[in-house]
Amino acid sequence: MAMEIPGACPLDCPDGCSWIVTVDDGEAVGLRGNPDHPFTRGALCAKVARFLDHTRAPDRLLYPLRRTGAKGEGRFERIGWDEALSEMAERLLAIRDRHGGEAIWPFQGTGTLGYLQGLEGRSGARLWNVLGASDHLMTICSIAGSEGLRYTTGTNRGMDPEAFQHARLILLWGSNPLTSHHHIWKFIVAARKQGARLVVIDPVRTRTAAQADEHLAPRPGTDAALALGLMHEVVRRGAHDEAFLRERCVGWEAFRERIDEFPADRVAAICDLPLERIVALGERLATTRPTAIRATMGIQRHAGGGMALRTLATIPAVTGDWALPGGGLAYSTSGYFRGNRAALARDDLRAHPVRSLVMTRMADVLLDADPPVHALVVYGANPLASNPDTERVRRALAREDLFTVVIEHSPTDTVDYADIVLPSTMQTEHTDVHDGYGHMYLAWNEPAVAPPGECLPHTEIWRRLARAMGLEEPALYDDDLTLARTLVESGDPTLAGVTVERLRREGWVRLGHPNPLVPFASGFPTPSGKLELYSERAAAAGHDPVPGYTPPAEAADPGEDRLALIAAASHWFLNSIFANGALHRERAGEPTVALHPDDAAARGLVAGERVRVGNERGSFDALLAVGDAARRGVAATTKGHWPKLLAGGANVNSATEERDADLGAGAVYHDCSVWVRRAVSNGDGAVALAQPQRSALRQ
Ligand code: SF4
Repeated sequence: MAMEIPGACPLDCPDGCSWIVTVDDGEAVGLRGNPDHPFTRGALCAKVARFLDHTRAPDRLLYPLRRTGAKGEGRFERIGWDEALSEMAERLLAIRDRHGGEAIWPFQGTGTLGYLQGLEGRSGARLWNVLGASDHLMTICSIAGSEGLRYTTGTNRGMDPEAFQHARLILLWGSNPLTSHHHIWKFIVAARKQGARLVVIDPVRTRTAAQADEHLAPRPGTDAALALGLMHEVVRRGAHDEAFLRERCVGWEAFRERIDEFPADRVAAICDLPLERIVALGERLATTRPTAIRATMGIQRHAGGGMALRTLATIPAVTGDWALPGGGLAYSTSGYFRGNRAALARDDLRAHPVRSLVMTRMADVLLDADPPVHALVVYGANPLASNPDTERVRRALAREDLFTVVIEHSPTDTVDYADIVLPSTMQTEHTDVHDGYGHMYLAWNEPAVAPPGECLPHTEIWRRLARAMGLEEPALYDDDLTLARTLVESGDPTLAGVTVERLRREGWVRLGHPNPLVPFASGFPTPSGKLELYSERAAAAGHDPVPGYTPPAEAADPGEDRLALIAAASHWFLNSIFANGALHRERAGEPTVALHPDDAAARGLVAGERVRVGNERGSFDALLAVGDAARRGVAATTKGHWPKLLAGGANVNSATEERDADLGAGAVYHDCSVWVRRAVSNGDGAVALAQPQRSALRQ
């Protein structure tokens, strides 16, 4: 008889969908969104709707492998788990004994966000802590913005996206939910039915921008200047909320002086926007309560990205929207789940403090760190597709003296550089716990089917590896249910009554925060307890104490004959996941770069031809689209393609740079100056088109 097993999407997406797997005779025969979940309401996205096909992909890794060819060739032989783990144990212990534990770099990505198997719980941390391995700084996604928000509001937490239904003005700022987190859309639609206006601010005319009442396309990376200009208009009209600024904030006088520096005409020049549109939006902001702002991770991936979020979070202070249901700013909700992360990761198992290695500086670290990294264990990550500066990463991974283990589902470009490959389970095959970073629910993921081949969950790999190493720390051998209880049953009041048994039974629970949520009703978690328009902490850390505008390094002024490269999320890939699937690849088509007609004409380029996009770091090939998708000065493409599956063997990250944002060592993917030239068929990778241009123009 068929059974229905509750689960959750594990992928790097704010929505954390609840799903139901139908299992018949031990086989997963159906997957659908859970209709009872209040936020995701039964809908999965286009990427994940065929997830079961992904679990059965013909190229799925099913057995441990040992490299037989040169690094990068991707030639392996099948070995058994015992052999793989004993070799791994022997090599890691030898490296630890000779060079110290910090010579081991556990390199974890966002392949799954689960608390047991993935990133949110730092899966494997207990083992790495016992070994004294280097700490992995997860800088690839949202850290600059989170750090910026912490200076202003004390936390990266903000609005509950469900509260958008109460807003009367919605600013989607660098955010494209119709591609990358579509469940907020129904709350936006509900607000629009009540008369709310939707404004999208994005240098790219995305699917979402095309649906908005208004689309402003500033120069990339100038968002903080635009925010200050809009606040200038609010203050000029006397529409700022004096009471909120006086009673709930510190530093208003200093911040008001900062706002005075950004009149609309100056901001129009910085952002390259028509003056009258800034004034009109400023007036609308001044007169519309509540206003809800949704900012996602794209706008903080540049040299001033931390400051951008720090400044955006001041808008609802100036307008007083932080005090209203339906007002404020939503960036992440991940901090609302107060499970016991510390007890899960057990940093107390470290015998001494260890160094931290920055994820998005992978090539720098592997080529130059002193003392060097001698062992790299990659899991939930595909740095050869997703890290900046591919060719340097490739050189680093090719180091013959680097012992590399990759734990994966699929034969990625990164797998090709592994000494040992371990096959891991997918979401329908293991236990996990998830929150979303775009909603207020906790979800259980029950294994629905047995793993194929010899795939194992990460948690089981860590246990077996610890045993192979002869490690005696009991915490290394906790089973999955014990780990889940440690996390969930934290005693925090917002988790009162939430047990693993209840989660397993019900599939999901809403966290115990008020609904509707006014995020800072009982104060801001800053040192002053108030929203900080002047931050002593920022000053002490060497930053401007007052929120402002930090220009990007390359994007706003890319240089003569150059364009600012934006590589947004694809509609069909989740980072680099699914980019090997026939259906997803067919739907995504070849990489496309979109230019404004003036920029194409200036280069003598026409739509549909193959172009090469690059700079001093490297280049990639794409089909040219010409139209309204990109503003002047921007080359808009999408990320996620696997380099080895592309005709030119390179994706967009051949051009992006290993460089830090202003806060948190965040990545700067959207701060990249490139040339765009006609590709020529001269045997250097530019080849005839393999398939017709498809849907990649509007992502
Ligand atoms: S990727 Fe996001 S929207 Fe798609 S199924 Fe997963 S959580 Fe839902």
